[in-house]
Amino acid sequence: MAGYRYHCGECDHRTAWLTESQGEEQHLQHYLSRHAGILPGGWKESAPPSASKGGGGGCVGVLVGLFLIMMLASTCEAGAATSPVGDSTGTVIVEEYQRDLRR
Ligand SMILES: [Zn+2]
Repeated sequence: MAGYRYHCGECDHRTAWLTESQGEEQHLQHYLSRHAGILPGGWKESAPPSASKGGGGGCVGVLVGLFLIMMLASTCEAGAATSPVGDSTGTVIVEEYQRDLRR
């Protein structure tokens, strides 16, 4: 089963279709042997052999996802603090107490 193909960001090299971990390893090996001293770049192509390209910025996507989760989490906390639902009165008090400490 093909999975991922890693494209070099410095030259035309690309790995064969491999699993994600194998491809990543070969990609790193390529950089170590051909582009020593350069941080591995390029992009990762995922398996579905459709006509659509892309799939770049996997790491960026993960970071954006984490950021969104953190944003959502903080939004939920703020919402709980400003509009108590009734069953979480204790939590609200603790959060307001922590807020006062930060000031
Ligand atoms: Zn290269």
